[in-house]
Amino acid sequence: MARHTITLIPGDGVGPEVSAAARRVIDATGVDIEWEVHDAGLGVMEQYGEPMPAHVLDSIRRNRVAIKGPLTTPVGKGIRSVNVALRRELDLFALVRPCKSYAGVRSRYHDIDLVIVRENTEDLYAGIEFAEGESATLELIDDIARLAGRPLRSDSGISIKPISVYGTQRVFRFAFRWAIDNGRRKVTAVHKANIMKHTDGLWLRVAEQVAREFPDIEFEDRIVDNMAMQLVQKPELYDVMVMPNLYGDILSDLCAGLVGGLGLAPGANTGDDIAVFEATHGSAPKYAGLNKANPMAMMLSGVLMLRHLGETPAGDRLEGAIAAVIAEGRSVTYDMKADRDDPTAVGTSQVADAVVAALERMPVSA
Ligand code: NAD
Repeated sequence: MARHTITLIPGDGVGPEVSAAARRVIDATGVDIEWEVHDAGLGVMEQYGEPMPAHVLDSIRRNRVAIKGPLTTPVGKGIRSVNVALRRELDLFALVRPCKSYAGVRSRYHDIDLVIVRENTEDLYAGIEFAEGESATLELIDDIARLAGRPLRSDSGISIKPISVYGTQRVFRFAFRWAIDNGRRKVTAVHKANIMKHTDGLWLRVAEQVAREFPDIEFEDRIVDNMAMQLVQKPELYDVMVMPNLYGDILSDLCAGLVGGLGLAPGANTGDDIAVFEATHGSAPKYAGLNKANPMAMMLSGVLMLRHLGETPAGDRLEGAIAAVIAEGRSVTYDMKADRDDPTAVGTSQVADAVVAALERMPVSA
């Protein structure tokens, strides 16, 4: 059996706990993995002077596969998201986020099987921002008045939303190929082209062109606000949904809510030859160090990683073991209980114990 070397970034907040749980169950599948563990985030700033040090990026580039826990970004303090920067730095242009119902999950919805493909490098998350009052911002405001004939208030902050033909083409081609490889039937392009004609309008136009290259997959589009309502009312109509960065961020949490919450939503940041797996959820700081967070989203990200590595039987077994623990309903964290204070909820590490035990009961050929 081939040995895989994988970069593991434990993350901060609940990251180290959910990462340890995921690593344990991935190892328990028997797949031979050498872990290169590297810290990143605000906690390493003092030591390395930056939140994503070069040696961590080098490790990911060398190994081409990584799994990471969440990293905290303080709100509105001028510190850019390390997560967003990592995706841009490694050009991980597509973030695949499957949202799937597992039997036994407490949710208003059942039989959900949706996939969001989020463009990961452009849009309002491109990180091109101009702070209120700075001289570059005032210059830009003058330029906009001159070029667009539209005066902006001088005390405005400005975020730039670039969406390119290149970026849109490659994420849609990726999504259509992903749909074919994974036996899906339909791709929906999500946009707000009625309002943003030169960004979302371009997105829709390019999506329609790319769709013609894939006649075997059904194609349609939805305006993002309508999409949000439709996902709540009739999610069964949708399959693979492709959206720019910001809408993808928001609707990922909506879809996670359909399948039982953030504790169950995994993800795969994918580029041409590098993939970084991570849960949709953040660092949930209030639960850090309490052995409380649900590690299943991180474990399910591990399932995606195993399949990406070509270890599909191990990935299927791990998913089966997680599904068995959910169905059995005893060894689950607080967020999966009807009452969040339910004293029978178990901790992060006990979920890992239960998944390892379930794996041991599962036939290796499953
Ligand atoms: P969050 O996902 O951390 O938390 C949202 C809610 O879900 C909270 O109530 C939290 O307690 C709960 N929750 C999240 N994960 C859970 C889990 N595994 N088990 C049980 N409950 C869980 O989102 P937030 O509060 O908006 O963000 C906190 C920090 O995380 C911020 O600094 C944000 O920037 C960062 N963040 C990082 C990533 C990432 O690393 N990719 C993603 C999202 C947010």
